Amino acid sequence: MKPELVIIGGGLAGSEAAWQAAVRGVRVLLYEMRPGRMTEAHKTGDLAELVCSNSLKSAEIVNAHGLLKEELRMLGSLIIRIADKTRVPAGSALAVDRHEFSRRVTEAIASHPNIKIIREEVIEPTFEVPVIVATGPLTSERLIAGLQRIIQEDLIYFYDAISPIISGSSINEEIAFRASRYDKGGADYINCPMGKEEYEHFYNMLIAADKATWREFEDIPYFEGCMPVEAMAERGRDTLVYGPLKPVGLKDPRSGEPPYAVVQLRQEDGFGQAYNMVGFQTRLKWPEQKRVFRMIPGLEHAEFLRYGSLHRNTFINSPLLLDNSLRLKREGNIYMAGQIIGVEGYAESVAMGLLAGLSATGHLRGEEFIPPPDTTGVGGLLNYVTTGSLSGFQPMNINWGLFSPLPLKAKDKGAYREKLAERAMKDIEKWKRQLKVS
Ligand SMILES: Cc1cc2nc3c(=O)[nH]c(=O)nc-3n(C[C@H](O)[C@H](O)[C@H](O)COP(=O)(O)OP(=O)(O)OC[C@H]3O[C@@H](n4cnc5c(N)ncnc54)[C@H](O)[C@@H]3O)c2cc1C
Repeated sequence: MKPELVIIGGGLAGSEAAWQAAVRGVRVLLYEMRPGRMTEAHKTGDLAELVCSNSLKSAEIVNAHGLLKEELRMLGSLIIRIADKTRVPAGSALAVDRHEFSRRVTEAIASHPNIKIIREEVIEPTFEVPVIVATGPLTSERLIAGLQRIIQEDLIYFYDAISPIISGSSINEEIAFRASRYDKGGADYINCPMGKEEYEHFYNMLIAADKATWREFEDIPYFEGCMPVEAMAERGRDTLVYGPLKPVGLKDPRSGEPPYAVVQLRQEDGFGQAYNMVGFQTRLKWPEQKRVFRMIPGLEHAEFLRYGSLHRNTFINSPLLLDNSLRLKREGNIYMAGQIIGVEGYAESVAMGLLAGLSATGHLRGEEFIPPPDTTGVGGLLNYVTTGSLSGFQPMNINWGLFSPLPLKAKDKGAYREKLAERAMKDIEKWKRQLKVS
């Protein structure tokens, strides 16, 4: 096959970009270095592996995360289609069976006649044809060096942490109970309730526990939305009770009262054999995770299928380097997509992969790329990464602040967001027609 487009990285963004180009007739060569060369967080050779949580966050369109996914659905996203098909119960969130999810993405990409996958690490990002670099937050060191030579800028770093996964059969359901906050979405979560004394004991042990040490990158900040549980705890005794351990909307069936604090466990797989500790991303040493997290009522005998860990996360200064079609201003044949351009999150990375795939395809066909309007989530994110602050640029999750405001005053927040969502979906339809995206 003579490729027209090279994509480096078969993660969430790269797989989506490859799909968008391939279904429009572009011949794609997709490089993925796994399983021959693994990153610090990936565990398999599958494409679009989810490295931490199995949740793509809210599925409700009156939530910015849910709306972004709805827009991607409307735009024919492969990743969201497969996420919908591999969904597991998680209240109002779209969570997936992670193995089935990436297995199906791999199958779809590998069997597309316009895509060829090469399992190799790319070191130099230049090819004879246009390239999309979608190598994610854990881009290999050698490619980082290759990119730096082209962009002539240092890449920026922060830390991202992942939560432990425990086996469902090891949870003591005489203490832990099934429910969703405010009964939203059925009894999808397992909740481990804590009284005040239990919480305080747990808190003291958590603060004192032994953490993994980091040599050269000790001063690099954490991403606020993915802060390790012990780092959050260090901010104050009750910070967790107002954060991931908040007891609101839940009652302990044994007492009929709301607990003082609650650790929530979210189903990981279709069979309910594995559960993710929600908000428990951590840098505690592994034996310490076992010792301290087993103090949580209901988890006395928890079997850890995967321990939490902390990873360096790399991104470029996109507002300085990228134009609004996700092309490097310095090197018009290179597009960048996914988390490496400074969006944060699974769906956000998919969104940037989708746009890069459409943009590169358009240019190959001699068409100018029309960016999506900032009344939409995809447009708001694109706008943020390409026009945000040049100094102090920081990664961003999708949020309502990225949508351009409505000309009316916000009396009722819910009704206002419904209107934002309505407008976004209408504008996605309009944009699709302009782009001739079928
Ligand atoms: C530790 C950690 C935990 C995270 N947890 C969450 C979470 O819970 N929820 C959430 O929404 N987001 C999370 N994120 C953020 C982000 O959403 C994910 O990292 C997401 O996978 C990014 O998608 P991507 O396609 O940009 O990168 P990836 O999905 O990482 O894909 C990049 C691909 O490129 C490959 N690659 C790298 N270098 C090369 C090379 N030189 N040659 C060829 N291939 C290469 C990699 O093997 C990988 O498959 C986390 C990130 C990290 C680092």
